[in-house]
Amino acid sequence: MMNQDTLPNLYDLSLAEMERLMTAWGQPAYRARQIFRQLYVNLVDSPLAMTDLPLALRERLVAETRLAPLAPEQVHVADQGLTRKALFRLENGVLIESVLMIYPDRATVCVSTQAGCGMGCVFCATGTLGLLRNLSPGDIVAQVVWAAREMRRFAAERCISPSLAPPDDDSWWTPDTLEDQGSSEARSISVSRLSNIVFMGMGEPFANYDRWWRAVEILHDPRGLNMGARSMTVSTVGLIPGIRRLATETLPINLAISLHAPDDALRSALMPVNRRYPLAALFEATRDYLAVTGRRVSFEYVLLQGKNDEPEHAAKLAALLRGEAGMTPLPLHLVHVNLIPWNPVPGMPLGRSERRRVLTFQRILRERGIACTVRVERGVSIAAACGQLAGERGLKVGG
Ligand code: SAH
Ligand code: SF4
Repeated sequence: MMNQDTLPNLYDLSLAEMERLMTAWGQPAYRARQIFRQLYVNLVDSPLAMTDLPLALRERLVAETRLAPLAPEQVHVADQGLTRKALFRLENGVLIESVLMIYPDRATVCVSTQAGCGMGCVFCATGTLGLLRNLSPGDIVAQVVWAAREMRRFAAERCISPSLAPPDDDSWWTPDTLEDQGSSEARSISVSRLSNIVFMGMGEPFANYDRWWRAVEILHDPRGLNMGARSMTVSTVGLIPGIRRLATETLPINLAISLHAPDDALRSALMPVNRRYPLAALFEATRDYLAVTGRRVSFEYVLLQGKNDEPEHAAKLAALLRGEAGMTPLPLHLVHVNLIPWNPVPGMPLGRSERRRVLTFQRILRERGIACTVRVERGVSIAAACGQLAGERGLKVGG
């Protein structure tokens, strides 16, 4: 019997690679399209369930490939079932987490790209783990397949049980931004499929670029999950080679850059990566990215009470973006700042900015012509919000 780990993982393969495998097996190439459809449209969990394939081929797939859908060890649910955090144990024992967030008009999965992270940002739970392992394309794809399955079940349950329909009061509804609170048409859940992917779970995507990008291509394939490039967003701590590389890709996925401080001294204290890629270089790469792609970039800014959330920090940030700090300005119509009140990580001597401070920070940026929203987090109570993912350690802490 062959060692399971050395067999090709079906979730690792692009359609072209699947076609090559079928050709090598003496099968017609269209078998690969059938398999792809079974994996990503029908969401089967075993080759034996691919009933449009000849039995002999199904058996050969079982014997000579791996299909390991991720089965969560635990699922934590919050926001009346609209936020679901899954803890998965990968084949070699490491733990990763994914979070599904269901909104009235869309469903977003936040997936991990590494187990742990080596970037060491001082406010982040994942960072405390260090880098445990890079995820394979298949590990990343499988998290999205879990979310797609979860959405299929959610849609089916809603048909059966109207109690899952939105209640009269809309207190259950946590919008993405404070601005959204005014929009009334979105009050009823119309979403039935997974619609968005954010690469904002555990890990730094650009530190695992090749494998992560292969996953993006598999997820985008119209013959599979068919996730639109514009429905995918990657967040980076600011690895410049990754930003430059993304600018050259043909798939126009969205980019978010973690900024968190308006000057190098503070940014280096919060994010060690800033010593390698300081603000001037980061902004130059961002300017080039904007010039090449013409696509909007968002800057994420985690607000830490008393550390980076004073009015002077906001004014300095505005000046930085507007080019008043000695740097060339960024094209402001393509820039957006997303403020994230820090989500508590037990044991960290940091505080979440009070709402009043968050709103003042936002007002200062807006007065200076910078688009700025505040992200209201999902799943803080189950440690599923940004920066709270820490696998087993997070669970222990959370009880
Ligand atoms: N490694 C990437 C993507 C994963 S983190 C990055 O750092 O951009 C996704 C976002 O959550 C980042 O902006 C990160 O800075 C932020 N974050 C980390 N810890 C957080 C916390 N405790 N509360 C709120 N946001 C946090
Ligand atoms: Fe890594 Fe992002 Fe956490 Fe920093 S914020 S330690 S880059 S996951």
